[in-house]
Amino acid sequence: MLKMKNKKSVFSAAALGAVLSVSLLFSSSVSAIAPTYAKWASRTKVIYASSGSIEWAAGAAKWKNATNFNVSTGGTDKSYYAYTVNDSSVTWDGICSTTVNAGIITSATLKLNTYFTSQPKYTTAIINGVTGHEIGHSLGLEHTGIVETTSIMNPYTFDSSNVPVRALSPSSSDITATNSLYPLLQSAATNASTGYHSADGIYLSPSWAVYYEDEEALTKAADLVVKGTVSKEKGNTFKARGEYQTYKKEVRLEVAEVLKGDISLLNSSISVAQMGGSDGIVTVYGEHTTHLNKNQEVVLFLRKTEDNTYIPINEDDSIFVINQTGGINNISTQKQLDINTLQ
Ligand SMILES: [Zn+2]
Repeated sequence: MLKMKNKKSVFSAAALGAVLSVSLLFSSSVSAIAPTYAKWASRTKVIYASSGSIEWAAGAAKWKNATNFNVSTGGTDKSYYAYTVNDSSVTWDGICSTTVNAGIITSATLKLNTYFTSQPKYTTAIINGVTGHEIGHSLGLEHTGIVETTSIMNPYTFDSSNVPVRALSPSSSDITATNSLYPLLQSAATNASTGYHSADGIYLSPSWAVYYEDEEALTKAADLVVKGTVSKEKGNTFKARGEYQTYKKEVRLEVAEVLKGDISLLNSSISVAQMGGSDGIVTVYGEHTTHLNKNQEVVLFLRKTEDNTYIPINEDDSIFVINQTGGINNISTQKQLDINTLQ
């Protein structure tokens, strides 16, 4: 049973529905054009690609050939650094971390995850689409919404039936967004909208390997689906200083129901780690991460990692918050979860 922690605000279902539909209308998740968050001071940049150099070169060429941003590979400077990793503990096939100071990108590190890209469904064209996507982030572009399948800035590579989702080259709106940041005449430059990047710090922008369309697809992909309450914000963890994609915030979750997975976890607690966090000096933000707070009641679709903590699949995509009226909504998009379909 759900315990109501806070009964002071009670909406009627109709009023709540009206609020939700308004917030959906203005949700950034339906952006047709990729928002921009920051930009380099110069529009000519050379990437140091220490591994996966062919794929990074192909990704860079997509932008160099289509936009004013003159990006290529062959550099030796780690301030714009791209390489491959093999990481089975994440749900991204590529990731970009940029350092942003007062709206200016001062460094970017891009990773291609061969744990995914070595799978047969990742053709050369698809892989080059992933590197192109991450290079798009490194130019200062955020994601478009899932509906915008003509954009290379769509967040997902495949849907859960292995059908490719993302366009493999910049769309006309991707080109417009890029050229507005990097006009041929410097004097015509516009500032990037700060969006969620308003603070100085490191920003993580993934390419998610798979888009899970609904509860059923998420459940199928999850090791563990639970309902529970956040009992503690355990704080920051990271594997190594500067390894920004390992920066996490952990919470302790008291498991009230196990909807899929290890039933022995019922009435025990688990650790859930979300992207982003701090090492005391540098703050790291995840583009798709809303950190959980103490006392929140949630439904989570989780993947187990080697160190016995759990991660939410594709971060916010698999985090649903139980509100005061008993409704269960996605933490970011407010999309409603029908928990009855899980039981
Ligand atoms: Zn992305």
